[in-house]
Amino acid sequence: MAIMITDDCINCGACEPECPNNAIYEGGVEWAISDGTSISGPYELKGNHVVDAHDKLKPVSDDLYYIVPDKCTECVGFHEEPQCAAVCPVDCCVPDPEHVENEEILLLRKGSLHL
Ligand code: SF4
Ligand code: SF4
Repeated sequence: MAIMITDDCINCGACEPECPNNAIYEGGVEWAISDGTSISGPYELKGNHVVDAHDKLKPVSDDLYYIVPDKCTECVGFHEEPQCAAVCPVDCCVPDPEHVENEEILLLRKGSLHL
């Protein structure tokens, strides 16, 4: 499953540079599939919603650091454990019950994000 950031976040920013998929953004900052990936052109998000990889999309949170579920692979294929959770000083990076996914799906996403 994807990882999510809870309301306990203290906006320290420690997690953001650790993410191999650039899935973590500061609150209020728009995100794009192309940020930190090699993707351009059409990209299908969950729910069959197609965007352009360079489209700037609405922040998931306006106030706190957030994780884009469509970019999070739980670090599968890069690291043994989620790096955001490993560095977070207040342990607020937790499994997202809204986005439960198996390793196969996570690896497919990694492949889609890093051609
Ligand atoms: Fe990024 Fe890994 Fe955290 Fe997902 S689990 S947001 S891929 S650092
Ligand atoms: Fe928030 Fe934890 Fe990331 Fe710091 S490391 S910005 S407290 S989620």
